[in-house]
Amino acid sequence: MTIGSFIYQSSPQRIVFGAGTLARLPEEAARLGLKHILVLSTEGHRKQAEDAGSLLGSACAGVFAGARMHTPVEVTEAAMAIVREQGIDGTIAVGGGSTTGLGKAIALRTDLPQIVVPTTYAGSEMTNILGETAAGAKKTTRDPKVLPEVVIYDVDLTLTLPPSLALTSGMNAIAHAVEGLYANNGNPVLSLMAEEGIRALATALPRIKADHIDREARSDALYGAWLCGMVLAGTTMALHHKLCHVLGGSFELPHAETHAIVLPQAVAYNAVAAPEAMKRIAHALGGGDPAQALFDLERQAGGPTALRDIGMPQSGLDRAADLAIADPYWNPRPVDRAGIRALLDDAWHGRRPHS
Ligand code: NAD
Repeated sequence: MTIGSFIYQSSPQRIVFGAGTLARLPEEAARLGLKHILVLSTEGHRKQAEDAGSLLGSACAGVFAGARMHTPVEVTEAAMAIVREQGIDGTIAVGGGSTTGLGKAIALRTDLPQIVVPTTYAGSEMTNILGETAAGAKKTTRDPKVLPEVVIYDVDLTLTLPPSLALTSGMNAIAHAVEGLYANNGNPVLSLMAEEGIRALATALPRIKADHIDREARSDALYGAWLCGMVLAGTTMALHHKLCHVLGGSFELPHAETHAIVLPQAVAYNAVAAPEAMKRIAHALGGGDPAQALFDLERQAGGPTALRDIGMPQSGLDRAADLAIADPYWNPRPVDRAGIRALLDDAWHGRRPHS
């Protein structure tokens, strides 16, 4: 390995990790001086948000359980009305990337401090990136205001994540680390995190499938997700993320499942152009061809491997290829239409990739 020149920037965040760590919420809120907190969740996770609110006692001003996928601005406006009316001085988001997105959207408008309690492996809590949708169009903003001040990872809250969701969410996290390893703005520190994040998740996910309340496996997975989230925050994502944004944005395919299916194919496409990254991915996965190891991990853990199984029409593949090569993200291997169309065909059929 040769260490070239690089830039490393750390994020000003406080991370609390463990089992039962939600109990530290009052202490963490007090450290930030918060006295009128709005707790955020989706409707399905209202109970968890209420439980978090009751830990806060009088510092909890209320629960807003309206968070939705893709952070629609009308939802943010509804939450903002409460923020203004009740003099809210901070938010606590309890949930997956959708709930974290709402907290970030409020912070973008107010710069209020945020505590995030993630319950999936999406990694949004580690980034200063916000994706919002207005009138059906998604807009991405990077702003230091949206970076959460405190993240409380509580393994106990992830125990309810069904193994199938844990798998796809975990593959979503692995994708951040994989692309961080061949990013054009990576650095040796983030590469260490990426390799360790992939290793932790890849060893944990089959154990979660075998025993969904295996606390050690859940803990390893959440630890891996945190590391992968840091890699996402510190590097620029490439072809894999571009394809997932196209498939999610234009064909409304589900976020984590799309990542899980596309990742082995994108790795196969990039393998020839990123040998050092491939060595590290293979090492983290226990050897072999990295694209095939990712595909096998997905298949053995019972996850989806074909886009046709998650609602992608075959007739949409040409349009997806056109969209993916228009305004492409930087990628280690040049992006050509024929190659991308073939990649999408393999992903649609769920073929085992060949690097
Ligand atoms: P999500 O928050 O919608 O959660 C996915 C599903 O998991 C939901 O049905 C939810 O109810 C369920 N769930 C969550 N936690 C659970 C638990 N502990 N037990 C049982 N069920 C649980 O989606 P996500 O996959 O966490 O995140 C995806 C979203 O986050 C996307 O909108 C994506 O764009 C965004 N995201 C943003 C960034 C960023 O940096 N801005 C990074 C990653 C993802």
